[in-house]
Amino acid sequence: MLKSFLSLFLKDNCPLCKRPTEDQICRDCSRQVKSYQFKNPRQFWQGDLPFLAWGKYDGKLKKAIATLKYDKHPQIGELFGYWLGETWQELGLIKTNIKPIVIPIPLHSQKQKERGFNQAEMMAKGFCQITKYPLKVKGLIRIRATEAMFGLNPQQRQENIKQAFELDSSFQKHPPQTPILLIDDIYTTGTTAKEVTKLLQKKGINVLGIAVIATKAPLIEKIT
Ligand SMILES: [Zn+2]
Repeated sequence: MLKSFLSLFLKDNCPLCKRPTEDQICRDCSRQVKSYQFKNPRQFWQGDLPFLAWGKYDGKLKKAIATLKYDKHPQIGELFGYWLGETWQELGLIKTNIKPIVIPIPLHSQKQKERGFNQAEMMAKGFCQITKYPLKVKGLIRIRATEAMFGLNPQQRQENIKQAFELDSSFQKHPPQTPILLIDDIYTTGTTAKEVTKLLQKKGINVLGIAVIATKAPLIEKIT
């Protein structure tokens, strides 16, 4: 009680450098994180499942993602959503008359309980505040807990994620005519995005692609 009362008068600290700030992260950290922003994020918007990645999964951006998830600062997720939304609007990747339904990639309920929030959902909320697209937080449900993808080869990743998701019951009964835009924090090999897309497409739902804050795919770095 006392703490929440005091917090009205005390400034918050930047979760990255602990210096006082009134923003989600301080101006200095924001500048450092933004130095990992891609100059040409349009390059990934191609192929069967196009994706938009805001920045490179490295340095201060990588640290900010870890702080968001493991030190539990959901406000960084919302900030990422704003940045991603601004980039999305600048690029004009789809026709302006299309307003896709935005769906965050879900965490398994147990994991979300432990963390207290889903970082992709926080990003999707920020993204929709900028773009004014409709948000469907529970469009997808993670029905199976999966291992962390780190250290798994592509085949193991595919096996790991197989049948891990399900469509929300309202989507099962009435598949939307409007296309879907997926949101996640990191794009690695795209295994999760492809699995989810397959599930949506099976119901005749069109998936435009996936937007993420960071990617580390080495193949992609070469053409940056
Ligand atoms: Zn800072």
